[in-house]
Amino acid sequence: MSDCLFCKIIDGQIPSLKVYEDDHVFAFMDIMPLTKGHTLLIPKTHCKDLFEMPEDVARNLYAAAPKVANAIKSAFNPIGMNTINNNGAEAGQTVFHYHLHLVPRYDDADGLRVEWNHRQAEFPTDVLTDVATAIKANLLP
Ligand code: 5GP
Ligand code: ZN
Repeated sequence: MSDCLFCKIIDGQIPSLKVYEDDHVFAFMDIMPLTKGHTLLIPKTHCKDLFEMPEDVARNLYAAAPKVANAIKSAFNPIGMNTINNNGAEAGQTVFHYHLHLVPRYDDADGLRVEWNHRQAEFPTDVLTDVATAIKANLLP
């Protein structure tokens, strides 16, 4: 897409620090890294977010993810990694070309804080069963 920042990075109109590229994906350093090695993995096919991502684009993107993740792991020996993908402005998306953040983790003070506020009391089994039923009813073939 002509006015898309990440499409421009893919075709070289905007410079980036590329770490990997194949026929389907492009991986480069996030310009505002959360931790050392924070990398963005994006499909070469423009799609806004996960909801609009065709199955083959998803397949090719995730096929490359372990290769890039393991390169980060070998380079910096992190103790873990979070993969994060924000979909929609309300969910924190700021660039509307799908991207998977690969964020290596080093310690509690490494720059990324992930807080899980579990709410299982609000979702007992009967409620959770209804939730699962609603999702299953909406799966496309
Ligand atoms: P989001 O908030 O959409 O999940 O993540 C967008 C990411 O893109 C941010 O982490 C931000 O630092 C990164 N970013 C934004 N503009 C540029 C850019 O021009 N070059 C690079 N390499 N990263 C960018
Ligand atoms: Zn794009």
